[in-house]
Amino acid sequence: MDDLSHLNKTPAFIVDRDIVARNCERMRAKAEASGVIFRPHVKTHKTVEIARMQHGGSTGPVTVSTLAEAELLSRAGFGDITYAVPIAPDRAGVAGNVTGINLLVDSVEALQAVEALDRQTDVFLKIDCGYHRAGVDPDDPKSLDLARRMASSEKIRFRGLLTHAGHSYHAKNADEVLAVARQETDAVTRFRDRLGIDVIRSIGSTPTTSVVERFENCDEVRPGNYVFFDAFQAAIGSCRMADVAASVLTTVIGSYPERRALIVDAGALALSKDLGPNHIHPEFGYGVVCDLNLRRLPMRLHALSQEHGTIETDMTLPVGTRLRIVPNHSCLTAAMYPSYVVVEKGRFVDEWIPARGW
Ligand code: PLP
Repeated sequence: MDDLSHLNKTPAFIVDRDIVARNCERMRAKAEASGVIFRPHVKTHKTVEIARMQHGGSTGPVTVSTLAEAELLSRAGFGDITYAVPIAPDRAGVAGNVTGINLLVDSVEALQAVEALDRQTDVFLKIDCGYHRAGVDPDDPKSLDLARRMASSEKIRFRGLLTHAGHSYHAKNADEVLAVARQETDAVTRFRDRLGIDVIRSIGSTPTTSVVERFENCDEVRPGNYVFFDAFQAAIGSCRMADVAASVLTTVIGSYPERRALIVDAGALALSKDLGPNHIHPEFGYGVVCDLNLRRLPMRLHALSQEHGTIETDMTLPVGTRLRIVPNHSCLTAAMYPSYVVVEKGRFVDEWIPARGW
């Protein structure tokens, strides 16, 4: 990992291209073998390069979480883009201007804003499958009324039902994730059957799409985090640590053996303050501390301030030592960096510039 010891700037976000390619190919092949539409989420990386890798080297349907991602991908030739956050009524106009965009609603107010646009827009209805973040209750008759209104509207094209099982992140192991995966497909299938209209059932989170062998009872899948994975996904059984493609390169900037402490230049703004799998391992810390070859070290990153990370350890390392930290939540960590350092077999091969802002 000689290139990493000589990189002139830390903290840096390091992406292993071979591992990303492997993760992308595995999920794409599973979707293809299952005969479903593959609409991967790009929110984790927000780059054209990885969006193309998600589709085996070309463009294809994608999911975005910001208009900045939508605009970047639209400019790069992606023509079927689902903006999978309920549309804020006063942003419907701007969003609707992105070529090939599909919008998401779960309220009459948002639907009216989309209907008021001067062009027909493709729209999904958000269904709550148990996460209770956004989406209509699939068992509430009012939800059917909204869906029927969408189906009969001449101002929009009703594409389908979209749900996200974010509560799969509360699971402690793959069996618990599997139970959530069933809830996710059941919610959209039950609702579609009651509605009696053959619309797309769109599902997808990285835990649920990673643990199932085949996608069933759905028409479209939208995982995102799987391109990088992270320490959290490994802990709940979505992947192995060897599948994690992202890490933060950091430098030891303080060494205090008398209090068993090392300080690194990766703080909350380099890692995020996500506590990771602390519902399984309460002492997990803010990431997994490794050497340059990603071998885990007997260290706990137990405190973060804005630009300092505090490691508890019996190991003594000199100031200037380089370490790598496998992040707890790669989506949040990646979002901190204006560019990613791309490596292959330990050598720098590229720099990727992600979309930023909203
Ligand atoms: N779909 C929606 C609506 C989401 O909000 C997310 C993530 O937050 C995803 C899909 C992708 O889930 P994951 O990041 O677990 O792959």
